[in-house]
Amino acid sequence: MPISLLDIISHLTSVGWMVVVGSFLTMLLSGVVYWQDFTKRSSKFFFIFGIINFVWGLAYGFFEGVFTTPDVYTGFITLYITAAIVPPFTFLFLYVFSVEKAKLPFIKIATYFVPYFIIVGILLYAPESIVSYQKNTETVGKVVFGKLFFVYATYILAYLVAGLYLLAKKYRLSAGIYKIAIYDLLVAFCTACLLAVLMSLFSPMFGGGHDLFWVGHAAVILLMFWIARILMKYNFWSFKLITTEFFITIILITLLAESFFAMSELDLLIKTAITLLIVFSSFFLVGSVKREIQSKYKIENLIRSLDDMHARLKVLDKKKSDFLSIASHHLRDPLTAIKGYASMLLEGSFGELSEQVRQAIEKIFDSSNRLITMVSDFMDISNIESGDMKYKFVDVDIYRIVSGLVSEMKQNADRARLHFEFTADGQGLGDTSYITVGDAGKLRQVFSNLIDNSIKYTPHGSVSVLLSKSADGKKIIFSVSDTGIGMNELTKEKIFRKFSRAEGVNRVYTEGTGLGLYVAKEIIGKHEGRVWAESKGEGHGSSFFVELEAKP
Ligand code: ADP
Repeated sequence: MPISLLDIISHLTSVGWMVVVGSFLTMLLSGVVYWQDFTKRSSKFFFIFGIINFVWGLAYGFFEGVFTTPDVYTGFITLYITAAIVPPFTFLFLYVFSVEKAKLPFIKIATYFVPYFIIVGILLYAPESIVSYQKNTETVGKVVFGKLFFVYATYILAYLVAGLYLLAKKYRLSAGIYKIAIYDLLVAFCTACLLAVLMSLFSPMFGGGHDLFWVGHAAVILLMFWIARILMKYNFWSFKLITTEFFITIILITLLAESFFAMSELDLLIKTAITLLIVFSSFFLVGSVKREIQSKYKIENLIRSLDDMHARLKVLDKKKSDFLSIASHHLRDPLTAIKGYASMLLEGSFGELSEQVRQAIEKIFDSSNRLITMVSDFMDISNIESGDMKYKFVDVDIYRIVSGLVSEMKQNADRARLHFEFTADGQGLGDTSYITVGDAGKLRQVFSNLIDNSIKYTPHGSVSVLLSKSADGKKIIFSVSDTGIGMNELTKEKIFRKFSRAEGVNRVYTEGTGLGLYVAKEIIGKHEGRVWAESKGEGHGSSFFVELEAKP
């Protein structure tokens, strides 16, 4: 009586189940990989390889299932026939994977299989010349090799070695992450081939019988999982998506199989409904995973391009600072010479000047002075930005600095016909109560800029400079108040930013750069002090304050 499928299943051992289910799962996985992109030839041949591997696994299951029956010999030969087709397909997959653009006409593929058909012919018509199986006792059989076994073994080894050769060549030619992926594949392939050849081909020769056949299967199953992983990496496919699809396929196949064992029509109906429900929800699940992955890629790309942009901007910024620093340096020296000579001329060092010439030289003096201030501001900016602004902290007498500045700038105020006054709360020169720790040159620059601004932005009226101390005596407060153009709330905030000027301020003073207050804020910040502006509004004058720590 012919043996039934149920008989075979009932005879399967746990190892047999592992081989059949394992090879089935790898076939599913190869299908899911192929599903990612039907145009990819390597994944198509991987899928075919998966199917062939499953057929080999089934043959092993059949062999185990019929082991204790008279059909054992048929099972044995079937196993050898199916095992023989695995190497050519392995080779074919590796060929396509390694030589991506190679032409592969049907006739070429067919020639790869000619040796297989010869082997099958021998195994069908004269099996004993290769291998035969003698059943000695009820359970244990003996594998007997024929004279042509070496042909069978050479045939199998030849395909595997050829595949290995292609892979090694591909490894040599590739670079970067591909090289790493192919190296991994090479190692996995060699290990799996070694195990399969030793356990499934040669182990019966050394007395192992057929007991270790499963090791070869297990090795190839693991190799298939490994290849799937490499194909995902190689093609930049998402591992998460493929795993999700793989598990969904398993669930669906399990549900379909369940339907076959339905007890009643109602049972069948319920099972079909559940299957359909899961098909729909899987559809949405896969869609959302896909979308999530796509947006993740987009964000990653965006971050990468932002990083690139940031790096490029940093380089540009550095170049700009360097340029500013070099250009300013080269400008300052000739400007100082112009200013120096103009000043000497005005002082009469080169003789009496006519009124006309004096006026012209005064203009040269003013302009070169303004230019020097601008150049200094630019230099300061580039130093601030490159972190090269150097400070020399010592005890500084603020009174001495401010009073010196006031006498220097009085001329300017007079020229602008402004009432100019300086008050220090009952203090005199050399008084220690206006001593702070700071950089004298930098603080002087700040006060000078603030007084200069007040003179510039006050068309008529007065400018008053005041030095005072806080009630507790711990702070020194410098202020300069004017009756000039004033400013609104918004302007008060923004004028301390780089290159920032009040709207319409050009009408009063055209040559400003909007840098002085930015530099002042930076310098006072480094002294752990405060600088701020106050005004009752446009046209109502302004006051600028600097607060510094008094030396105890
Ligand atoms: P600049 O004077 O070269 O424009 P600053 O940084 O010194 O640069 O000043 C920034 C802006 O702040 C000025 O353009 C002006 O709009 C405003 N400002 C400064 N001081 C005064 C002041 N005393 N009265 C009114 N506006 C002022």
